[in-house]
Amino acid sequence: MRGWIAGVRPITILPLSNDPALASLWGSRALQPYSELFEAGHVIFAEGDPPSGAFLIESGRIEVSTMQLGERRVLGELGPGMLLGEMAVIDDSPRTATARALTACRLTRIDAAQFAERLTAADPVVRALLMSQLTRYRSTLATLTGNGSGRNSPPAASPEDAGAFDKIRLESELRAALERKELEVRLQPIEEIESGRVAGYEALVRWQHPERGAVSPSEFIRLAEETSLILPVGDYVLARVCDMLVELRRRGRRPLPFIAVNLSARQLAEPDMVERILDHLRSRDLPPDRLKLEITESLVLDYVRIADLLTRCHAVGMHVALDDFGTGYSNLAPLLTLDFDQIKLDASFTRALDRPRGVALVGVIVAMARALDCDLVAEGVETREQRAILHRLGCHYAQGWLVGKPVALADVLND
Ligand code: C2E
Ligand code: MG
Ligand code: MG
Repeated sequence: MRGWIAGVRPITILPLSNDPALASLWGSRALQPYSELFEAGHVIFAEGDPPSGAFLIESGRIEVSTMQLGERRVLGELGPGMLLGEMAVIDDSPRTATARALTACRLTRIDAAQFAERLTAADPVVRALLMSQLTRYRSTLATLTGNGSGRNSPPAASPEDAGAFDKIRLESELRAALERKELEVRLQPIEEIESGRVAGYEALVRWQHPERGAVSPSEFIRLAEETSLILPVGDYVLARVCDMLVELRRRGRRPLPFIAVNLSARQLAEPDMVERILDHLRSRDLPPDRLKLEITESLVLDYVRIADLLTRCHAVGMHVALDDFGTGYSNLAPLLTLDFDQIKLDASFTRALDRPRGVALVGVIVAMARALDCDLVAEGVETREQRAILHRLGCHYAQGWLVGKPVALADVLND
């Protein structure tokens, strides 16, 4: 049964039930045993068997061995709480060892699909690490036992593994770029539509990769967010932005424009984040109201944390904007409790201004922002027509290529 070694029938423990309804539900189908008993000396599976499933050892001891040049070589002994036979199931290869019960054993069978489901859902990097370890173990085992079977040439990495390792490589490179200060912070102007003057800037990070060229922040910020690497990246951006404010002040820009920085979920989770930001400002003698924080809409689900952030920022006069409004988990509930100073209307709404529905919707959002005493910034403004409609609707600020692309501080200073 199930491809086990012939002649050794495990004794099965069946789920106990006298319920006739359950019995009819199962019908004549063989019931899956909860666990299986093996007598001492029984071979649970043998080298070369197909990978029929893995086991969790509930009780008893099991010896794992292979044949080496005609002699049996014991690889180890397994006991309660350990997994048995999981390797062949993970990579769907024949068993490379024989498992024999040393004492009476009780095992719970784990279906290959149970592993497959979790492996599919796992982080691709973790999966690639596991497969790499498994391949290496198998090749070492083959060398030790002399069962090389042509496995001497290294197996090619699967495209999926290559993708995962590419991610790890990019992460290492990002770490190095950070150390070498190769990340560039650019400033994109935000215009007050009524007066046409630049009120402030949004800081947008750029990575000029020596081989890959410009890597988009939507790619590497997401990557950095998967690990704690986003914290030093965020800190670097903050420090650069504060240095830029100092430079703008030194060059006599009055009134001093504000600069908005984007915060990630990880940064928000840092209990001392506001203090760290204030340290940056204090050490340069900068007024807190010249730094704005942008929080993307999807992060606002964590009400308590954001409410706390707003309270702390408002206490020192620092403004907080709700970024990418109208996307993702779009929902008006945050505005019911969280008093953002600014709402940034996602570019998809600006693009929709060429349709009556888009104009109607943006008009309502403008009215809503006014009613909440909140500034509204339209993102992604690319045409004069869009700006004219926004002006007519009463939107306060515009950001986009029409106003200016993200540029280096030097270009801002030369304006
Ligand atoms: P975001 O905060 O919504 O930034 C606006 C994005 O729209 C920027 O993309 C900007 O270059 C782009 N953009 C501005 N005007 C126009 C326009 O007229 N047309 C079009 N098509 N695009 C326009 P970018 O620089 O690629 O940044 C993407 C996202 O990466 C940002 O979205 C932000 O969420 C994130 N990001 C950028 N810098 C940082 C950072 O320092 N820290 C964190 N945590 N996230 C950052
Ligand atoms: Mg932003
Ligand atoms: Mg945005």
